[in-house]
Amino acid sequence: MKVSVVKETAPDERRVALVPDAVGKLRAAGLEVLVESGAGDGAWLTDDDYAEAGATIVSRGDALAADVVLLVGKPDDAAISALHADQTLIGILGALADPELAGKLAAAGVTAISMDMIPRTLPRAQPMDALSSQANIAGYKAAVLAAAEFGRFFPLLITAAGTARPARVLVLGAGVAGLQAIGTARRLGAVVSAYDVRPEAKTEAQSVGATFIELTSVGSAAGEGGYARALTEEERAAQQEELAGHIARHDVVITTAQVPGRRPPLLITEDALKAMTPGSVIVDMGASALGGNVAGSRPAQTVVTENGITIIGAGHLPSTMPAAASAMYARNVSALLLYLIKDGELALDAEDELQAGVIITRAGAVVHPALAPPESAPPGPAQSGPDPAATETAEAGGTADVPGASS
Ligand code: NAD
Repeated sequence: MKVSVVKETAPDERRVALVPDAVGKLRAAGLEVLVESGAGDGAWLTDDDYAEAGATIVSRGDALAADVVLLVGKPDDAAISALHADQTLIGILGALADPELAGKLAAAGVTAISMDMIPRTLPRAQPMDALSSQANIAGYKAAVLAAAEFGRFFPLLITAAGTARPARVLVLGAGVAGLQAIGTARRLGAVVSAYDVRPEAKTEAQSVGATFIELTSVGSAAGEGGYARALTEEERAAQQEELAGHIARHDVVITTAQVPGRRPPLLITEDALKAMTPGSVIVDMGASALGGNVAGSRPAQTVVTENGITIIGAGHLPSTMPAAASAMYARNVSALLLYLIKDGELALDAEDELQAGVIITRAGAVVHPALAPPESAPPGPAQSGPDPAATETAEAGGTADVPGASS
């Protein structure tokens, strides 16, 4: 069976789906590995590195003709039109955020597997959890970016020229990325506070060194599957108002809040920005074309407000650490591939909960229940999937902006 790595085409995407180390592991499992020439350039991996690991370097056309095509992100339209039935495509497809994509892949006849749909709570799925591996990288980089942009020190420094107090960092959203941001800011010497709407985030944030902030105006907003639910209008307004006081007391704020299938919640309003001290820095990891956690943030841009607050729109941080992100993603995608293979061939099992969670198209149809109404899906993968809220939003064709879609 031929497995290929295709060069990513999305702007600013520097990751690659396999690193040479992973090529060796797949070959040991009896697979032939093809790599599109230049696929690893963005992560400083040369064609020679892949060839030494046992891969065959091929043209884009040949890579797109393999039995299994591996990507980090989603294929562009030209790549989809080159695909045909009997092929399997694996990537962080972000199909909930792009309602048309599953239809296009179904029309191409491919079996499409979306790494962002992995049922993360299944123990056997943890080595395949690409959302977590990439969120860890993003959380780390967010803290480092904030420290680099901040005009003062993160740690307490006592020198002959005076004493610098440690920076006060606030992390909003203490999921995978937020916990890594807390740990990294702590390691840089900052005093860190954190807030999340899920009550269980309190002990997790404390365990990596943050003081947890509890709001009196908003209660728990734990949703399904360990995720947060969207707040009501009243809850959102109360949260924004109470958070503003805490935000004003911090030098650096890192926002990571996401709700599956919805645009990121607005946590820092224009009024909250006005109350911050000039020189403060915000890293908005939710920044996207649909808006982010911070009023006025722009994806992939840094803006400075009139009162001197720097807002870094950082929705795509894993790609800024392409070597680490590619190595971790390669482990995730290899683990999934090896799980799906029996005797050197793909052996898909529609009854398997993990597979039912990740297969979005098969035999010309959209089969994932979160993407297709059950009556239009052929008998196949079980009816498990992400938050029903994601389904509603994707079907409405509206505000879907799924965590991980841009990771
Ligand atoms: P995420 O990216 O969906 O969201 C990031 C954080 O934002 C979450 O902690 C969420 O609660 C928070 N958030 C959402 N709306 C908010 C609001 N209005 N105000 C403040 N915070 C808000 O989350 P994630 O990092 O992907 O993780 C989500 C959950 O999945 C966590 O409970 C995590 O522990 C769990 N998880 C479990 C496993 C596993 O079991 N192996 C693996 C990965 C993640």
